[in-house]
Amino acid sequence: MTAQKNIIDQVFPETLKILSDLIKFPTISGSPNLKLIEYCEKRLRKLGVTSFKTVNKSTQQANLFTTISGRKKSNSAGIILSGHTDVVPASPKEWSSNPYVAIEKNNKIYGRGSCDMKGFIACTLAMAPLFASENLKKPIHLSYTYDEETVCLGAPVMLDDLKKRKINFSACIIGEPTSMRAITAHKGYNEYITEFTGLSGHASDPEHGVSAVEYAIRYSNKLMELRNELKRKKHKKNIFSPPYSTLQIGKINGGIGTNVIADKCTLDWESRPITQEDGEFINKNIDDYAEKTLLPEMKKVYPKANIKKITIGEVVGFDEKEGSEAVNLVCNLTGDNSKDVVSFGTEAGLFQEFGVSTVVCGPGSIEQAHTVDEYITFDQLKLCLKMLIDLKSRII
Ligand SMILES: [Zn+2]
Repeated sequence: MTAQKNIIDQVFPETLKILSDLIKFPTISGSPNLKLIEYCEKRLRKLGVTSFKTVNKSTQQANLFTTISGRKKSNSAGIILSGHTDVVPASPKEWSSNPYVAIEKNNKIYGRGSCDMKGFIACTLAMAPLFASENLKKPIHLSYTYDEETVCLGAPVMLDDLKKRKINFSACIIGEPTSMRAITAHKGYNEYITEFTGLSGHASDPEHGVSAVEYAIRYSNKLMELRNELKRKKHKKNIFSPPYSTLQIGKINGGIGTNVIADKCTLDWESRPITQEDGEFINKNIDDYAEKTLLPEMKKVYPKANIKKITIGEVVGFDEKEGSEAVNLVCNLTGDNSKDVVSFGTEAGLFQEFGVSTVVCGPGSIEQAHTVDEYITFDQLKLCLKMLIDLKSRII
């Protein structure tokens, strides 16, 4: 116990320094993160580890995947510690201080991403030299991805590449803020924009125009009908709150005035399916309705009328079995056997689909994530370091 506390005391100041450095990179989803990745690479390079990057060239973003195989270069199935490098936007006017300058106050560190989830990345980077200096029985892999906060754009690019490299993994810990509790399931997250193109005309003669707004409303009504059907559907596992797949229309935009038939309208909507079939149910039914009911009516008046559904992203849900390797590992490390499910999406479903036993567990509370004056407590960072130190002891 004392030895462990000594290591925490030794690594903690470095963790804070790294976290302050990471907060300085304004890696808002969709914007470049290459400088942050370079920073991580530079620290890791000194340790004689192997890293590779996968990039999104057009937007200057990269994932970094590093393997720490220890002094004896273990190549058995390793453990992935994964974190996303992007953060949600911050409006400086609302913050008490600059969101991209870390501030230490009352045993907390404030700054955008401190909690979600640069705190976890800082802990893993601070621990990397300790992992590298040991004779590890299993390698530790650090996975830092881009653009998770939107619809998980980075991780699939990295996982595609990992597939080709044929590396074996035994477990994956996604360090999203869960107050260090094991999260074993979350719903999927699908996001769409549907664009309606109609024909403009004078409001006094609606028969000769195609109102994009009116067709968008009928489409919305159909979505709400489907939502009610999903609500009635019983699922085997009633673990989520609410215990059914949801659907929501977030934005509608169309028309220019009362007396003009609208030729353009867009709908932004999302669904959070419990199972992939629920997601497919929505897609199939709404696409059929658009194609077989709405479009023929629109085209009768205006052959160029159109309904186009754009998929912004479809993030798969996550549902790890009780007693899976990753869940057991984390519960043993934290000594906390309570498992939970959450309503926010993560990259966990992608790693699970990739074939690795996965669990979500990381420092900080989700209540602070995405908020004004986001912070993480020193205690949470220390609990995360403790978990990583215990992980090291298990694999040497
Ligand atoms: Zn996150």
